[in-house]
Amino acid sequence: MRISLFIVLTLMTIAVHAKTFIHAGYLITAESDTLLSEHTIVVDGDRIERIEPGFVTGSDNDTVIDLRNSTVMPGLMDMHVHLSQQHGGPQTYLQRFTHNEADYALAAANYAEKTLLSGFTTVRNLGDGYNETVALRNVINAGVHAGPRIYTAAKSIATTGGHADPSNGTNKDIMGDPGPKDGVINGVAEARKAVRQRYKDGADLIKITATGGVLSVAKSGQNPQFMNDELDAIVATAKDYGMTVAVHAHGTEGMQRAIKAGVTSIEHGTYMDDETIALMKEYGTYYVPTILAGNFVAEKAKIDGYFPALVRPKAAAIGPLIQKTFERAHKAGVKIAFGTDSGVSAHGDNGQEFALMVEAGMTPLDAIKTATKNAADLLNISEDVGTLSTGKKADIVAVKGNVLDNIALLQNIQFVMKDGTIYKE
Ligand SMILES: [Zn+2]
Repeated sequence: MRISLFIVLTLMTIAVHAKTFIHAGYLITAESDTLLSEHTIVVDGDRIERIEPGFVTGSDNDTVIDLRNSTVMPGLMDMHVHLSQQHGGPQTYLQRFTHNEADYALAAANYAEKTLLSGFTTVRNLGDGYNETVALRNVINAGVHAGPRIYTAAKSIATTGGHADPSNGTNKDIMGDPGPKDGVINGVAEARKAVRQRYKDGADLIKITATGGVLSVAKSGQNPQFMNDELDAIVATAKDYGMTVAVHAHGTEGMQRAIKAGVTSIEHGTYMDDETIALMKEYGTYYVPTILAGNFVAEKAKIDGYFPALVRPKAAAIGPLIQKTFERAHKAGVKIAFGTDSGVSAHGDNGQEFALMVEAGMTPLDAIKTATKNAADLLNISEDVGTLSTGKKADIVAVKGNVLDNIALLQNIQFVMKDGTIYKE
């Protein structure tokens, strides 16, 4: 009796301590600017135990992953996604009349899994409809469903008629009068209430739409839509609750007001001029470009009937500009974090953004760092993720070949580990 219990306990101990030895042909830790070759990453549980040169192995109980022909790097991080939906032409605009919360939630679960399998182990979800990405984050964290680690803003905050006012373009009966709870504010008190409501709803951060946007059924794609006092109230309240503020902005004036109010990141940033670039650097504001979304809507604007009449000219004008803006911001030394706005383009295509960044003059290694080291810095989670070193979470992905020779390899992820669990091999 005593002996069998001893054996069971011993076996359990061995099982618990089984480690994974990843043999990396090429290794990008994102801690430095060097591409290492022939290293072993030892994973114990959900963390990296150590990284050492050469291909080493442990005991018979340990697992060896052979990635000797691959580039191994930190799990990728997309700082701008919308997991609850995917734009699919004219019928997308009908969904708000036909879909319920559950439809969005189930779609989100599916898109989350696709995103993880394409190598993105962490995402920022910048706007949903019914807080469904809060629930999604929770089931993923509980290990019930496969998906990336999600930091969600829940429902975006807009002003009346602004980008992300959910009732834009509808008739009077459906339009109603959405308020702070629905993410529509006017004035300081409502701004504070909307932020506090999101805290109560379980959001991790705040997203606001500081200027007009492309896909909303409204005329302007770039006018400022928040007053300074509203922006100040949003930022100050968010700070009280330990939340950062991500800002959708295309036009210069709205962008500059938001930067001066102390927001954390500017998304899209299309009409960013030199003065705005200087402000971004002065305030240390992050830029999340979303070139992929710009290219996607510019392409679709060429198709008759794909977008409503109000949307089409905005998509045609704004879409093609983002890559040039990215090029100028990068040259000027603005802090850049990777983001795609996936949900505009298809979920799982996130890796296409890398090639667009490289095409606009960024080195492949720097592009990868925007989606690892920089993104972790933007989320204030650098202690746990974003680079590969002892003690960090084992979020590890790989592509076949040398990714620095061919950035497009990131569109075909071969291996995905998140929190020490393998999801794709
Ligand atoms: Zn977006």
